[in-house]
Amino acid sequence: MQQDIREILIDRYAIQARIFRMAQEIGEAYKDREFLLMPLLTGSIIFVADLVRHLPVRMKIDVLAVSSYRGKVTVNEGARVLYPTTFDVTGKHVLVIDDILDSGRTLMTVTELLKQQGAASIKTCVLLKKKLPIKPAIDADWVGFEIPDEFVVGYGLDFNGYYRNLPDIAVLHKHAMQ
Ligand code: 5GP
Ligand code: MG
Repeated sequence: MQQDIREILIDRYAIQARIFRMAQEIGEAYKDREFLLMPLLTGSIIFVADLVRHLPVRMKIDVLAVSSYRGKVTVNEGARVLYPTTFDVTGKHVLVIDDILDSGRTLMTVTELLKQQGAASIKTCVLLKKKLPIKPAIDADWVGFEIPDEFVVGYGLDFNGYYRNLPDIAVLHKHAMQ
């Protein structure tokens, strides 16, 4: 696996330091109201696992499975909610967590859905945001790091299902993305 990595963009220590600070801010924002954390599978699992352990506030977790990339495709084709088929967020303060904000279509789709379902408030948090010439369809309330417009893996993010277990955020060599 190591020979597939071209460059480490953000190492595990920088990730942990940033997550600790984000958790302080999120904890402060929700200190007076119970909230529902909604991680988008599968990319955000490692991020959310680290984040919640720094959040000493009253909260619940409900996961949502959204599909944007399939297989070896690295171009977004728009998001679809795959799981669950029904859920209840009526009157709840929802914080959506995703691994990375790219075009913003995923977060847009999910927040529109939560609005329709009657969430009391919706906020969004991503570990990474790509620096793009065009603005994303929606911005996130909390962003861990802004990164160049490259396809990244590690710390939950995959290529064709692999590399989620890399502890750092990395860019792959071309040969690894065939
Ligand atoms: P958006 O809908 O904002 O264009 O894309 C967000 C989703 O696309 C993320 O949830 C993530 O699954 C996927 N994605 C976007 N950029 C990358 C990337 O550089 N690497 C990986 N592994 N997934 C990405
Ligand atoms: Mg995703």
